[in-house]
Amino acid sequence: MTRGLILGSARLGAMDRSVLVTGASRGIGAATARAFAAEGDRVAVHYSSSPDAAKEVLQSLPGTGHVLAQADLADPEAIRQMVDGAAAALGSIDVLVNNAGIYEPHPIRQTSYDQWQNAWTNTLAVNLIGPANVTWCAVQHMPRGGRIINVSSRGAFRGEPNQPAYGASKAAIISLTQSLARSLGPEAIAVTAIAPGWTTTDMAAEALSGDGYHRRRLESPLERVAAPNEVAAAIVYLASPLAEFATGTVLDFNGGSHLRM
Ligand code: NAD
Repeated sequence: MTRGLILGSARLGAMDRSVLVTGASRGIGAATARAFAAEGDRVAVHYSSSPDAAKEVLQSLPGTGHVLAQADLADPEAIRQMVDGAAAALGSIDVLVNNAGIYEPHPIRQTSYDQWQNAWTNTLAVNLIGPANVTWCAVQHMPRGGRIINVSSRGAFRGEPNQPAYGASKAAIISLTQSLARSLGPEAIAVTAIAPGWTTTDMAAEALSGDGYHRRRLESPLERVAAPNEVAAAIVYLASPLAEFATGTVLDFNGGSHLRM
C-alpha cells in the first residue's frame, strides 16, 4: 500500500491505495474522494440514498479503479455488505474515512419528548454507531500501515445548543479515535480525527445563508468559513505515511474560531 513512497517527499499521498470514503456523494466526502483520486488512489464512493449524485462524483474522479458502495449507515448488515463489497472490488481497504453524518435540530425547549428520543437515536446511529460498525468491518480488510480518519466537529468542544446529540456524537467519535489508535497502533494503523468548523456544504447551507453567513464567517479571525477541498486536503494529509505519529490526535480545522489548549 505504500508503493512509491519516498519519506520526505513533498507528495503526501502514497498512491495506489484503496480508500473508502463514507458519505462521498456530496460535500466534504465528495471533495475527499476527489482529493484521494488526485493522489493516484482508488476510491470507494459510499452513498446512502443519492445514487445519481454518487455516480456523478465517481465519474468526476481522476484515474481508474474507483467504485460505488451503497449502505444506510443506520443498518449494520447493510454496512457489512457494503464494506465487504468495496474491499472485494478494491482488493483491500488501506484507508477509511468516516465522513458521513447528520445534523438535525432538536433544541431542548422546542422539542417534544418523542422528537428528542428520535433525534438522539437517529443521530447516534448515523454519527457514532454507524462509523464504529464501518470501522469494525473495514479493519477486517485493512493491512498493516492502514489509516482511519474520523470526521468530528468543532461542536464536540464548543457545544451544539440546537443539535446536542450531534455534539455528543462528535465528542464520542473522538473517544473512539483515541481507543482505536491505542488498540491498532501495534499494527501500524494510525487513527486520527479532524474537527472542522463551518464548511460550505449542504449540511451547513441554511446556517450559512443570509445574516447567518456573516455572523458565522466572523467567528474566524480569517473572516471566512472553510471550503470542502480544504478539509479534504487535511484528511489526505492525515492518511499519509508521514502522519503516522499523529495517531490518536484531533486536528482542529476551524480557522481559529475556537481555540483550545
Ligand atoms: P453533507 O450533508 O453535505 O454530507 C453528509 C453525507 O453523509 C451525505 O453524503 C449523506 O448522504 C451522508 N449520510 C447522511 N445520512 C446517512 C446515512 N444514514 N447513511 C449513509 N450516509 C449518510 O455534509 P458535510 O458538511 O459534507 O459533512 C461531512 C462531515 O463533516 C459530517 O460528518 C459532518 O458532521 C462534518 N462536519 C461538517 C461541518 C460543516 O460545516 N459542513 C462542520 C463540522 C463537521
